[in-house]
Amino acid sequence: MSDAAEAHITAERSVWTGQVTALCGATAEYGDYDMFYLFPVGPLCPECRRIRDDH
Ligand SMILES: [Zn+2]
Repeated sequence: MSDAAEAHITAERSVWTGQVTALCGATAEYGDYDMFYLFPVGPLCPECRRIRDDH
């Protein structure tokens, strides 16, 4: 069992393959991650947050 899913910030989502890329570089097939939110509603991936805040 994994920990509660971290929310990643979606950087890119391919409508062709369904693959999601997060700002931190994590990739997943669409659906592997429950939450790819622009707005944090749970523990936000620290890498995603740092990268976002850098911009
Ligand atoms: Zn992330």
